Formats: sequence, structure tokens, C-alpha cells
Amino acid sequence: MLKIENLHARVEGKEILKGLSLAVNAGEVHAIMGPNGAGKSTLGNVLSGRDGYEVTAGTVTYNGIDLLALAPEQRAAAGVFLAFQYPVEIPGVNNTYFLRAALNAQRKARGEKELDSMQFLKLVREKLKVMQISDELLHRAVNEGFSGGEKKRNEIFQMALLEPQLAILDETDSGLDIDALKHVADGVNALRSPDRAFLMITHYQRLLDYVVPDVVHVLANGRIVETGDKSLALQLEAHGYAGIAERQPAGA
Ligand code: ADP
Ligand code: MG
Ligand code: MG
Repeated sequence: MLKIENLHARVEGKEILKGLSLAVNAGEVHAIMGPNGAGKSTLGNVLSGRDGYEVTAGTVTYNGIDLLALAPEQRAAAGVFLAFQYPVEIPGVNNTYFLRAALNAQRKARGEKELDSMQFLKLVREKLKVMQISDELLHRAVNEGFSGGEKKRNEIFQMALLEPQLAILDETDSGLDIDALKHVADGVNALRSPDRAFLMITHYQRLLDYVVPDVVHVLANGRIVETGDKSLALQLEAHGYAGIAERQPAGA
């Protein structure tokens, strides 16, 4: 589904990704772990097409198409979803309104009919049930006054509505207490499916106790330096990232 080859990217003139390669199949959950400043968020931002991230070399193929040639809205329409490390608050904008606008923008870009409010509410009710989320969050302004856990839960709910094919979660676990973490993990697990892939970016392995990844990659100094299974995450937890940045990527 996703094939990244020799990706180089710059932020503000500084090279951050330095030859990153990675392949993800449909149905798989890949964890990307790595020390602070390794380029994990940069990778998520480059994949979602965020402004200010300049790709200088390499390719990203998504379902056989050149992802980098698509505008951010087109990527979203094609099923790429990025959950941010720091969700934005939008005071005064009702969350239900926001979610419906996001979903309808996606449908419009796909040439599908927009949902009216009745259809949307029906869909919301189904998803709330699956995600075990209370509808109370829907009636408030987007993320305003939400706790860390509520923001992440809201994001997972947004993801459930948009039904992405490729979901990128950037430190969705950061700052969560264990109950909130489990709730987020349950949401992610409920959305796992044979035709959906996840890239879970995380500094700590704790989330991976609840969302068990198929593949674990270590990103250091702008490259994938090691790839393994779940045990790699446990190893990192035990030994830390010391020495990791100096490693050479496999095959180099
Ligand atoms: P990680 O998510 O692995 O902690 P990031 O991708 O956020 O790492 O950052 C990698 C490097 O890129 C860091 O040195 C960071 O300071 C730099 N960087 C990231 N985003 C920006 C930005 N918008 N402007 C300037 N430097 C940035
Ligand atoms: Mg960081
Ligand atoms: Mg980051």
C-alpha cells in the first residue's frame, strides 16, 4: 500500500529525512520509534503534505500512485489520515459541525454526495457505539477545554468517521494516563482491518502493549536504522536509544 524509497526532506533549509525507506502492506500496523528530533513528526508531515516540508529526493508510492504529487486535500480524499501530536483547539466551532465539514470535504473531493445532517447523525451514532465514546464531546467546541485524553479520543473518533486507508498517528499516546491510553488503543484496535494500514509514531513502547504492531522500525537521524517485530520495541524500552543514532541503515 505504501512504499517509501530513499526519502530526503528539508524543513527550513535543514535536511531532516536523509534517505528513509519503508514499505507497509494493507492490514499491517507499523510502529515508528525513535529518539526526540529523529524526524518522526517530519515523516508524518511529509506524508500528509503539510506546508514547509520540502522533499528533495526519493519517492512515496501509495496504492501505486505518486503520493507526493497530490495536494494535501487530495491525499486526504485518497484515504490518508494524520492525527497530530498536538491537536488544535477551534474555539466557537461546534465539534459536530467540524466533523461533518471534514467528512463532507472528503466526500466532495471523491465526487460523492455530501451527507445531510440526518444522514450524518445516523453515521455518528453508529460510530459512537463502535468507539464507545459518549456524545457529550460532540456538543462542545473543537478540542476547547478538552483534556489530553478527550482530544486524542476525539481524533480517533474523527478517524473512525473518515475511515482512512492509511492512518498515521503521531504520538497519540503522549501525555495520556493509562485509562485514556487504553481507550485510545481500543479505538485503534476497533479500526484495524485487512484493508487499512497504520503508522504509529511513538517515542515510548507503552502504547504497543495495547496496540500490538506487526512491524517495528527505529528511526534515527532521518533514516530507518533497524526493523523488527514487537520484541524490538521491548529491547528499546530496556536499553534506550543510546547508540542507535550511530547505526547505519540496513543494506548501507
Ligand atoms: P521527532 O518527531 O522525531 O521528535 P521532528 O520531526 O519533530 O522529530 O524534528 C526533527 C528535526 O527537525 C528537529 O531537529 C527539529 O528541530 C526540526 N524541525 C522539525 N520541524 C521543524 C520546523 N517546523 N522548523 C524548524 N525545524 C524543525
Ligand atoms: Mg519530538
Ligand atoms: Mg515528533
